[in-house]
Amino acid sequence: MSEIDDAFEFSRGRVPLLISMPHAGLRLTPAVEAGLVEQARSLPDTDWHIPRLYHCAAELGASTLAANYSRYVVDLNRPQDDAPLYASATTGLFPATLFDGEALYRPGLAPGTEERARYLAQIWKPYHQTLADELARLQKEFGYALLFDAHSIRSQVPRLFDGRLPDFNLGSNSGASCAIDLAERLRQLCAQAQGYSHALNGRFKGGHITRHYGQPQQHRHAVQLELAQCNYMDEQPPFGYREDLAKPTQAVIRQLLQAMLDWGREHYGR
Ligand SMILES: [Zn+2]
Repeated sequence: MSEIDDAFEFSRGRVPLLISMPHAGLRLTPAVEAGLVEQARSLPDTDWHIPRLYHCAAELGASTLAANYSRYVVDLNRPQDDAPLYASATTGLFPATLFDGEALYRPGLAPGTEERARYLAQIWKPYHQTLADELARLQKEFGYALLFDAHSIRSQVPRLFDGRLPDFNLGSNSGASCAIDLAERLRQLCAQAQGYSHALNGRFKGGHITRHYGQPQQHRHAVQLELAQCNYMDEQPPFGYREDLAKPTQAVIRQLLQAMLDWGREHYGR
């Protein structure tokens, strides 16, 4: 069994903001690839093209952390003990199903205990270690740290939510993961964005990363964005990127990231 030493891509920036992309990965391990049902092979539950969509991160000077491995291998936005995130339907640390509820693996072909322990040790832990270290570095340098957890999902997934999802779904763990006025500022920006709908702490309140690292009393402010994918891509295989749709959406994303930085500067004076 070979060591996994390429669990993520990390780039260090120059402002107190880290953008995390835990579901952007497309790689599979041989054991996962060998067991997947046909329908899962196109990786339909990926947060597609997120690094491309957030290419303004470099220009803004933000640090970025993006997963290389698919959430089917191990879900980086779930806690290590796999406690369920939502009382309603959800998927776990080592998913057994697709978002639509169908089995992810052919019978008897899900990775075993040893494989899973390896994914936890060689993918989950290094991602979280890097995330924690970078937040600590930012806090040491600036006195505070901002974390933006970037996600996207199909606009309609009947098993996970009713009807069509709003376009921009902000989550602040119901107000616990960042300053209230920061979340409110981001919500207002979404409200002003022409042609887009939004929600704050609706169906998506923020996953494990937002909930765990967002500690506003300790000057660590975390926000999750769950973006409806119809705003920048084709929602059917092969899940192509749509420049025409992405352009105006990227303008809103950039405003959100800039607003976070502005808020930090106003609030902390640096
Ligand atoms: Zn996601």
